[in-house]
Amino acid sequence: MAELVAESKILQVNMQCDKCGGLMKYIGGALMSDPPLYPHKCQNCGVVERFRYIYPYQRLVTIENPREPVGAERNPDE
Ligand SMILES: [Zn+2]
Repeated sequence: MAELVAESKILQVNMQCDKCGGLMKYIGGALMSDPPLYPHKCQNCGVVERFRYIYPYQRLVTIENPREPVGAERNPDE
C-alpha cells in the first residue's frame, strides 16, 4: 500500500440571487427541517432565501492524477 497525492485547488462556491444576480450571504440561524435549511440574504437586493448549504463554501478540486509524493509532500510519519 502506498499513499498517492494529487495537487488540488480550492474554489469558493457562491450562490447567485435569481432576482438580481447579486451574491447570497448567510445571515445566521437554521430551519431545523430535514435537511436543515440555512437563511441567506442577497447583498444587493436584500431578498431572503433558504438553502441546504451555507454560502460561500469551499470546494477542493484535484487538478492532476494521483501520483507518488516527492520531498516534503511525503507523509512525515512514514
Ligand atoms: Zn438580489
